[in-house]
Amino acid sequence: MVSHHKEAKETLRFSGVAASRGIAIGPAYRYFRTFLFAEDRELAVSEVGPEIERFDAAIAKARQEIEKVRRVSEQKVGAAVSSIFEAQRMMVSDEFILSTIRQRIKQELKPAAYVVDMEFSAHQRKLEASDNPMMRERADDIEDIKQRLLRYLLDRKKWLSKIEVPSILVADILTPADAILFARSSMLGFAIDGGGVTSHVAILARSLGIPAILALHAAAEHIETGDMLILDGERGELIVCPDAETLRGYEQEQSIVHGSGVEQSGPIIEEDAPVARTTDGHATTLLMNLEFGSEVAIIEAERLSDAAARSNGKKQLGLGLVRTEHFLLLHDEFPTEEEQNALYKDLADRFYPAPITLRTFDVGGDKVLSGTYREDNPFLGWRGLRISLDEPDLFLAQLRAILRASARGNVKIMFPMVTTVDELERALAFVKEAKSTLQSNGERFDEHLPVGIMIEVPSAAIMAESFVPLVDYFSIGSNDLTQYTLAVDRGNDLISTLYQELHPAVLRLIKLTVDAGKRGGKPVSICGELGSYPLATPLLVGMGIAEISVAPSSVRALATRLRLLNHAECKELTSSILASSVSPEDVKREILQFLSERQLIDLFSESTLRPGSGARMIKK
Ligand code: PEP
Ligand code: MG
Repeated sequence: MVSHHKEAKETLRFSGVAASRGIAIGPAYRYFRTFLFAEDRELAVSEVGPEIERFDAAIAKARQEIEKVRRVSEQKVGAAVSSIFEAQRMMVSDEFILSTIRQRIKQELKPAAYVVDMEFSAHQRKLEASDNPMMRERADDIEDIKQRLLRYLLDRKKWLSKIEVPSILVADILTPADAILFARSSMLGFAIDGGGVTSHVAILARSLGIPAILALHAAAEHIETGDMLILDGERGELIVCPDAETLRGYEQEQSIVHGSGVEQSGPIIEEDAPVARTTDGHATTLLMNLEFGSEVAIIEAERLSDAAARSNGKKQLGLGLVRTEHFLLLHDEFPTEEEQNALYKDLADRFYPAPITLRTFDVGGDKVLSGTYREDNPFLGWRGLRISLDEPDLFLAQLRAILRASARGNVKIMFPMVTTVDELERALAFVKEAKSTLQSNGERFDEHLPVGIMIEVPSAAIMAESFVPLVDYFSIGSNDLTQYTLAVDRGNDLISTLYQELHPAVLRLIKLTVDAGKRGGKPVSICGELGSYPLATPLLVGMGIAEISVAPSSVRALATRLRLLNHAECKELTSSILASSVSPEDVKREILQFLSERQLIDLFSESTLRPGSGARMIKK
């Protein structure tokens, strides 16, 4: 974000897009990537042969280096995410591109470096002109290959990708290859001026499990190697040379976010069930959110589930939201039914007998797929279930793939972006059709597989009562519910201070949903970011939300908070807030007072008292 302001004398704050969660504290390592350009000149005819040989040698070297990066990446983040580099390798093996370059060297008598620069820049421009933000971000991948080739052809030094002391890397641009190579040394996190949430470098940061902020615009030029930094990947804030108090606050929060310290305060979940209980015995089930496609994320969630296993070794901590569309962000095509089934089945087996909730593809909105149409208002457009209903073959393939993974009885289906009852009825008809196809093929699946919906559009919350008879459960998507209720784009940093999940309008819609679920005997969970927002915990308990699903890194802290609360008191607080608050400030004030009366303020309010926390960037 462009705006930055001096807070104390030498403290600077920058806000950008929180691309990978977590908090890093440490000195800056300023990385300068040089951008090479090739000069034009005319070759003598006798130079053409050697020039083409030099070009071929550069290509061979590029392939070797990309292969090396891919291997390191596979070790670090697994095969799925490393396919990013497969696309780069294909580009340097593309005979059409290579022979065009050779031909131009020969026919136009131009140096190889110059032709490489021209050809690859032309591809980049095409991508940059795309309406699709994901395609635009792929232009950075081409820049990486182009610069690699220019470096060989212009005989420049190798880039240095090593940090000697544990540091936060700051740069104006960072390529996926840089990120992987730096991850081998002591990179605590990275903050870069460019990039977007769907860029490969963002995906890599999440897979590596290191905090990252992108789109800081002009932060890097203000930072020097050695400057003390706080990289707040929870809120997208970079603080340069923080004062002692801010630093202390963040050090405390870092231990909460990363789970240390909280561990000693009790088991993640309690002996008899995957729950955390309040002081008066009210149980809330804990679950985890998973961004599908990243092996590292799966391993992290699995590890936590193992840690929370019963003494007989059976896993209890399951997945309340699996964002299946994240797998698509790494691939340009929809996976086949077989490919999907293999992935879903693997996940179901790894978590068995804990439940896994597979949300059908939520593409569109901010999760754009290449080849989709340009829309003026993508968040109000062709998104989520709307796309699935319009593309029956894709939808049925995904439903069959999920159903076939459900035979052991621990899989649930969830539909995103449900707006009307009619949509849900149509979606359920597809589930029926998928089941009958499998039945006639003699395939096994869980006949009673629970089917639920996200409540993330105000119309669905208001009409929750009408959805009750059709579903097995509701799950509140507070991220979208907030943006649609308050008409605030969740990814637009210009208006991020208006994005208030604790706005009473949002809370009332959540309450409507919980009450409708209770009356109809259907469980209501929450899987939006509100679940991990410390100040919201008393309200979620007070409203009687049965299950809370949060990122694995937030589970322990959530469990600890739940155990410190009293259900009856939270209920009272919630009733009072719902009855009289008119603004998010009112809500926060009342919660803070409630917490401070109980000496709980430190554990609950850390993240909300800090200035600038209105900007909670929650896109993944
Ligand atoms: C939500 O909207 O709250 C949600 C959990 O879904 P997503 O963030 O994937 O849109
Ligand atoms: Mg959503």
